[in-house]
Amino acid sequence: MPCNTCVTATSQPTQMKDFASANIFTWCTNCGNYGINAAVRRALVELDIKPCETITCFDIGCNGNGADKIGGYTFHGLHGRVIPAACGAALANTETKVIAFGGDGGTLGEGVGHLVHGVRGNYNVTFILHNNLNYGLTKGQASPTTKKNMKMDSSPDGPTSEALHPVRFVLALESTFVARTFSGDVKHMTKVFVEAIKHPGFSFVEVFQSCPTYNKQTPHEWYQQRVFDVSTVSDYDPSNRARAFEIAEDIENKIAIGVLYKDKNSVPQSARQQNRAKLNTQLVEETRQYPIDTLLKAFR
Ligand code: SF4
Ligand code: MG
Repeated sequence: MPCNTCVTATSQPTQMKDFASANIFTWCTNCGNYGINAAVRRALVELDIKPCETITCFDIGCNGNGADKIGGYTFHGLHGRVIPAACGAALANTETKVIAFGGDGGTLGEGVGHLVHGVRGNYNVTFILHNNLNYGLTKGQASPTTKKNMKMDSSPDGPTSEALHPVRFVLALESTFVARTFSGDVKHMTKVFVEAIKHPGFSFVEVFQSCPTYNKQTPHEWYQQRVFDVSTVSDYDPSNRARAFEIAEDIENKIAIGVLYKDKNSVPQSARQQNRAKLNTQLVEETRQYPIDTLLKAFR
């Protein structure tokens, strides 16, 4: 279903400029969001996905300021609520690639219930968690992933609660794809995003994202010195969930990145809908408008 904006491009391979935006980027200098934006566009180009074939969905937060910085269809939702909107888009049109973005605050704070049910429903959505260990948009407040006792501007003594571990949390939810990468390595992010987008079902990718303005403790250099890709571990088997739990645990010294867990037999939510099994149409094509004036009159 090509849209008017890229109908010319459908006969040619996708290029970076197809996903370009004329809007001015407003993230702070050296923010990890720049690299994430570039890697997502690179992954879409590598997979030759057209702007008219994708919808990127954004939460509120610094990540959400990317909603008008990428071509194709976009959606910008309420804080913590991006996952249900993305799951709805994936059900409505199974031919559209749905990529959703959320921060650590919105996703693991306000919207944590949505993450749970998006994962267990295995909706055909790639979800990218921008984990910069704080609520950046509201000026460095502690979030669910801020480390215990990590001093922040708005909590000078540091949080007293334990930090959530996103990968171990999602691995426990009967997830079918869990990966990790970091915003200082565009090449690695691109590789991981390509695998995540290809996965049939809910693919969860945690990106350790630098926030040089409010998180001075874990800049890109900090991650660079600690990460290793699991594909370099000779006996690593990404279909072994228990092994993924084990290797993902350390996020302080030797940090595993790459595709940590993948279920090769994943069946996305759309393929589980038996009532639609023999239909060739998409839900979005079956939408009708119903006049409700007569119903409303009953209440006048
Ligand atoms: Fe990026 Fe942090 Fe600035 Fe937000 S506050 S734009 S996350 S550096
Ligand atoms: Mg954050």
